[in-house]
Parts: sequence; structure tokens; C-alpha cells
Amino acid sequence: MEEKILIIEDEEKLARFIELELEHEGYRVEKATDGRDALAMAERGDYDLLLLDVMLPGMSGMELLRRLRRTKQTPVIMVTARDAVMDKVTGLDMGADDYITKPFEIEELLARIRAALRKRSGAAAGEGLLTSGKLTLDPARHIVRYGEEEISLTSREFDLLQALMENRSLVLRREQLLSKVWGYDYMGETNVVDVYIRYLRSKIDEKFDVKYIHTVRGVGYVFRDAEA
Ligand code: CA
Repeated sequence: MEEKILIIEDEEKLARFIELELEHEGYRVEKATDGRDALAMAERGDYDLLLLDVMLPGMSGMELLRRLRRTKQTPVIMVTARDAVMDKVTGLDMGADDYITKPFEIEELLARIRAALRKRSGAAAGEGLLTSGKLTLDPARHIVRYGEEEISLTSREFDLLQALMENRSLVLRREQLLSKVWGYDYMGETNVVDVYIRYLRSKIDEKFDVKYIHTVRGVGYVFRDAEA
């Protein structure tokens, strides 16, 4: 899974340099140079992490963080000027996850980013988790695992599996699954459900030689805990 990072930095050369390094590491990157624009992007977007310079035009990094924290808990690494002790303390008080001081080595930045992302994924895991035997679906992180192995699902497959797991042991009619997963206004064929059930089975039941997804002939589908 590619994690998405927003670089908020008005020194364009530095921002570009960080962008290239992060992309090289496999992150998706967006940039903002102005505090107000950045806040709007951070509030709207689904970033996994913000890299936030303290000294910005438009709105300071501190103010941006303060406002962002009213609605969002996106991990934030503050970028502070050298020896600005106050910035570090204030930033952490206001909910930054970490800080790094300019000038920094890119390796140190990458390590801090990895740590912040790891910490956050650990915190998010467990909220609303759906499990059945070795199968785990994590709605917050949009991850499905069987044991340690991550199962790559499209978002439709994921939503379908989530709907089934949330209603385990209950038989769901195709129409119910259509409205839960595809939406009430879906106008296509109901056999799209059968197609996606087939995808899920090949990625889970058949792959791991278990049986979670059962067909109830003439009615629909039901998720049952697999027998040990
Ligand atoms: Ca700056």
C-alpha cells in the first residue's frame, strides 16, 4: 500500500528534494507552499502523514496544526529551525507526532517518517477490527490479512467482504449486498455480486483452503466463521 504524504514547505528547492526522495522510497507525495492552502488540503485529503514546516507564509505551521487537530489526527512531523526549542515543545504539545530540525539528513527524515507511520498504524489497528479465525479486516486501515499475509483487495471487494463479515451468520440477499456495497442507485445487473463473490473466494477461501463464504441457493450469501 502506498502511503500518501503532504509536504508543507515554502522553500521550493528543499520541498522538491524531499519530494524526490520520498517518491523514490515509494510514497505518494503532494506539496503545498502556503499555510492556508495546506490546511485546506490536509482537512480535505486523506494523507497518511504531514511534513510540516513551522515558518510558512499564509499561516504558521503551529497555527495550521492547532486548527487541523480540531478535526483530524493525521500524523504530523514538524520541521523546525535549528535550536528553536520553543517550537519543538509547542509543536509536541499541540499534537505533533515528532519533529526534525533543519538542516537534516534525508536518512533521518525517512526513519522518522517510518516510525510515525508505524506508530499510527499500531494505534489504529484494533478499532473496529473484524476477525474470524486467521482472517482480519481492519476498516480504519483498509487492510485484510490472513495470518501475517496481507490480502490485496480492490475497494469493491473490500467493501463486500466487510458487509459480509459485519453480518456474519446472516444470509444476505444479492439485493441487500448490492445496496450496501454498490449503493441504492446501482442500475446494473445483480450478478455483479456473484462475480465479486467469486473474486473474494479465489483470493481468500481457495487461496488459504478455508471456507468463509457460503452460497445459499436461490437466496444469497452468508459469511460463517471457518471451522478450525
Ligand atoms: Ca519555511
